[in-house]
Amino acid sequence: MSADPRRRIPGVDRLLEAPGATDLIARWGRERTTAALRAAVERVRSELAAGSEADGDALADATRYLATARAQLEADDVPSLRPVINATGVVLHTNLGRAPLADEARAAMERAARGYSNLEFDLEAGERGSRYAHGRTLLAELTHAADALVVNNCAAALVLAVNTLAAGRDVVVSRGELVEIGGGFRIPDMLLRAGARLAEVGSTNRTRVSDYRQALDEADVGLVLKVHRSNFRLEGFTEEATLDELVALGREAGVPVLHDVGSGLLVDPDALGLPDEPTAARSMRTGATLAVFSGDKLLGGPQAGCVVGDAEVIGRLRRNPLCRAFRVDKATLAALEATLRLYRDPASALERVPVLGMLRAPAEAVRARAEALVEAFASAGVDAEAAPGDAVVGGGTFPGHRIASWTVRVGAQAGRSADEIARALRVGEPAVVARVDDGTVVLHPRTVAPGDEAALVAAVVAAVAPATAPGDAP
Ligand SMILES: *Cc1c(COP(=O)(O)O)cnc(C)c1O
Repeated sequence: MSADPRRRIPGVDRLLEAPGATDLIARWGRERTTAALRAAVERVRSELAAGSEADGDALADATRYLATARAQLEADDVPSLRPVINATGVVLHTNLGRAPLADEARAAMERAARGYSNLEFDLEAGERGSRYAHGRTLLAELTHAADALVVNNCAAALVLAVNTLAAGRDVVVSRGELVEIGGGFRIPDMLLRAGARLAEVGSTNRTRVSDYRQALDEADVGLVLKVHRSNFRLEGFTEEATLDELVALGREAGVPVLHDVGSGLLVDPDALGLPDEPTAARSMRTGATLAVFSGDKLLGGPQAGCVVGDAEVIGRLRRNPLCRAFRVDKATLAALEATLRLYRDPASALERVPVLGMLRAPAEAVRARAEALVEAFASAGVDAEAAPGDAVVGGGTFPGHRIASWTVRVGAQAGRSADEIARALRVGEPAVVARVDDGTVVLHPRTVAPGDEAALVAAVVAAVAPATAPGDAP
């Protein structure tokens, strides 16, 4: 008998000749298959070296190495960034990619990605054009602004505006508006990195227009900044200067006023059942020099930062070298333009922009979907019940605002705890993200696209199925 069991392990060359290998080579190519088989063999070798039990015949069996290699190759093919069914009830979930896009936006993105485009080419004149021409007229029209510019996100828009207008000078901002926008990123740090000095005025809860006036008298001010407190609320003994007052003050002092409105809402918040929210259009009517907002919050478009306002100032932003660093790509521009086009008819935007539809859906409509899901679960042997449960806007907007809604609650069953079910949902295909509350998995149909319901049912059925114990027949 051979003393060394490792001698029973087949060589990679022999494994490549084995019947099952043809399949792997056809799908993944010879090079990747060879590497995966080598890794499978190495793994068994090191297991043996670590003292694992040696069964000579099993060691010699080619199928085990082929199976390990196949599993490895399949795992390597799973993309890192992949679709998720959002069952959290958070409509603008920043960690789940914020706004799903309208069909029109997706089609435009696909067209822009598929071939060449007139991204920076003036087709009429036959010469170089500007990428910033796309979406410019629509944005200006929809916000009643003289001009508009699109960069990568609202944070970039803010940095670009501050750097252009106030590098080496002071930016006056209320202490009640020095917000952290999320992920540890804070407005004051961004202003400093944009090359400006910070002139904080007022106190956390109260800032008056006289505080701004004093700063304008004393400091070398390049910009007055008003930041919408999107993600927290200030209640009680509070006071703040209105945009009207700041615009008047800015005019008097010859200093531009920038309004960071955050969410990019382009329809009446009433139509969405939301509390009042600043809009860029209102900032323009009030006379702000510039307003900045995100493309992928309540606007419901791609990640982008929009700047609207005074044409001369926006021209300066466009010529700032940082503008190149914050340059937005063609697929984004295509999606943004297509989304904005829907807003020309607000009724069609409410119909077609997915986040607006999710926000608008009446609780009773969500209830009907929840009940239909419960029935589908029941016929697949999964226990669930429909129950009222609030959804939220998310994306750092409308803190404290609850959207009355309905959920499907899936309790522990078939020997699986709610946490185990939720985990199985997250790592399944497609991935489903849901909250666990009080020992129950809570699914919100409001944020699930109607077309995803069948996949959601299949995912839950798979997640609840009792795990096959090792050694069980598959
Ligand atoms: C969300 C938000 C930002 C950041 O927007 P991004 O597009 O995520 O960069 C900036 N300011 C305010 C007030 C916001 O609400």
